[in-house]
Order: sequence, then structure tokens, then C-alpha cells
Amino acid sequence: LHNDVVDLRGRIRVSVRVRPLLEKEKDESTDHLSYPDETTVGIEQQKGKVMPFSFNHVYGPTYSQLRIFEGVKDLILSVLHGYNVCIISYGQTGSGKTHTMRGGEGEAAGLIPRAVTFLFENRKRLEDLDWSFQFAASFLEVYNDSCFDLLSTPPRAKREVKYMNKAFVVEGLTEEPITDANNLTSLLRKSDGNRSTAATKCNDESSRSHAIFALSVKGTNKTTGAKINCTLKLVDLAGSERAKESGVVGDRFIEMTHINTALSNLQSCIRSILSKQSHVPFRNSKLTTLLQDSLEGGSKCMVMLSLSPQLTALNETKRTLEFGKNLSHT
Ligand code: ADP
Ligand code: MG
Repeated sequence: LHNDVVDLRGRIRVSVRVRPLLEKEKDESTDHLSYPDETTVGIEQQKGKVMPFSFNHVYGPTYSQLRIFEGVKDLILSVLHGYNVCIISYGQTGSGKTHTMRGGEGEAAGLIPRAVTFLFENRKRLEDLDWSFQFAASFLEVYNDSCFDLLSTPPRAKREVKYMNKAFVVEGLTEEPITDANNLTSLLRKSDGNRSTAATKCNDESSRSHAIFALSVKGTNKTTGAKINCTLKLVDLAGSERAKESGVVGDRFIEMTHINTALSNLQSCIRSILSKQSHVPFRNSKLTTLLQDSLEGGSKCMVMLSLSPQLTALNETKRTLEFGKNLSHT
């Protein structure tokens, strides 16, 4: 098990998830997508011409939330073994990013609640080996290159990012200790409320902001004195769709510019890290500034490309796959 995990260090994993058709879409065709094997998705752009894209894993529309979690749980477990881990969900609005990351109740639970519960339970095995752990969670939103605290009182306090002790920190960010499953639930309810309040007020701002959930794990071994101080970040990016550039004005234009800058800069940073360049342009956007410690060094990062199965989404589907391909092939 651990060989696999260690092996993946310093490389970027890119996987694909295609959501199923929704009830209101049930009569639409999805014949343009094919799944020849577990690592390939094919898109048929012209009749008879299938373009294959290969990644670490391709999860077709029938995969449950549990199966997605099982596909990433070894990666998540490595937080307890001293690695920063980051899973980023990328794709157009409506493709299933929030479903994958946050999800719903019960079986529909997404990676955030499953990962926290899993790590919290797995700490017990290490406690038998004299480790003790402290868990704390924060949740923030990046909108127009500004940070908002989703767990603050009053909600959505604006926070500044400062460079201190060779790292970027968000000043005054609320960190809620996680001591049991109940306080995780109430913390997520609070952040859901703070995301959706903004969404109704500002015409679904949530699809135009990035949400970063962070679980900080601090561990000490009482016998050896060894310490770990690691973070799991689960990131639900702003929708990657290209708005028709002509005709976008005012607030929408500003948002679009910020999103394009952040997403293309994320790609540049990952590519610079993979090709071992000495300068990585983390500071070019708030998103990459906040993700620096999860991207560089011995951190383990995965990008989950999120796709809609609709034929009307084909152009965006292709763009999403190209984005992922550019991350894995330098
Ligand atoms: P995004 O965050 O990318 O804009 P959402 O996660 O909000 O997309 O998903 C859009 C819609 O599709 C939502 O109604 C969501 O519940 C539904 N959905 C997404 N993925 C799945 C899935 N794997 N199974 C069932 N429904 C899904
Ligand atoms: Mg969303």
C-alpha cells in the first residue's frame, strides 16, 4: 500500500469523473463519450473520430461517492504519515465539482466529510504507537482574488494573506478544532450556509469563487518526540467555462478575468514544479499563493477533472481534458 503512495510523491495525479445525466436531462444522448478502460475516456468530436485521453483513473457516470473516496483514500491517509495532500476539483459549472468535494447527506457525502472522518478514525491506530493528534479545520472562499472566512462570526469576514516565516498564512482565519463527528457536521452546516447566502445574494457567486477546505493535522510521538504538522486541502475551484468574451461587462467581466488568471496560473505553477524550474509564479494569484505548500516539495497533489456528460458541454469537456493533459505531460 505505502509503496504506491510514496511512489506518487512529487508527481501530479490527474483523474476524471463524469457525472450522470440529471433527471431533467434524462433524454439526452451521451454517445459522444466512451470508456474503453479504467484510465481512458474517449470523446467523439466528429462522427467516427474518437479522441482518447488517458489519466491515472477515469470514473464514469456510474461511480458512487463511496467508490470515488476509495480511489483517493490511500492518498488521504498519507497526511497521517507526514505529507501535505491536496485534491483539487476542476471543471465547468454544473459538472459535479461541489458534489464530489462536499456532496450531500448519507451515501451522497463527498470527499470532505469522508476524508475527515476517515483520518479521525485512523489516528487511533497510530495512537497505539504513542502518537497523539490534534485536528482543526478551516474553510475559506477566494472571490475576485480576496479571501473570505466561511467559519467566522459574523460570517464571511475578509482575511488578508501575509508572508511569515517563509510561508503564506491567512491572518485571523478561523480554525475549528475537530474533536468528534458532530462538530464536523455543524462546521459544514455553517460553511454551507455561508456559501449559499452569498450565492442567492449575488446570483450564484459560489460557482465563480474557489472554496478551500483545509484540515490541519498536528501529531507528536510521546516516546520518540517525532512531530508532524501537515495539511489536507480539498479545493472546489470556480467554474472553468469560457464566457463569451465579447459582451461580458461590469462585475462579470472582473470575475471572469480573476478566474481565468487564477486557473491558468495554477496550471503554470504545476507545470513549473514538474519541470523543476527554480521560479514558480505562486504569487501571481491568491489561489496559488494559498496552495503553495500543498503543491511544492514533497506534497502530494491530485486534480480531479469534472465532466458533464451532456453533448452541449462537449467544447468545455474537451477544454477540461486538455487542461488535465497539460498538467500530466510536460
Ligand atoms: P459544480 O459544483 O461543478 O457546479 P455540482 O456539484 O453543483 O456542479 O453538480 C451539478 C448538479 O449535478 C447538482 O444538482 C448535483 O447534485 C448533480 N450531480 C453532480 N455529480 C453527481 C453525481 N455523481 N451523481 C448524481 N448527481 C450529481
Ligand atoms: Mg459548485
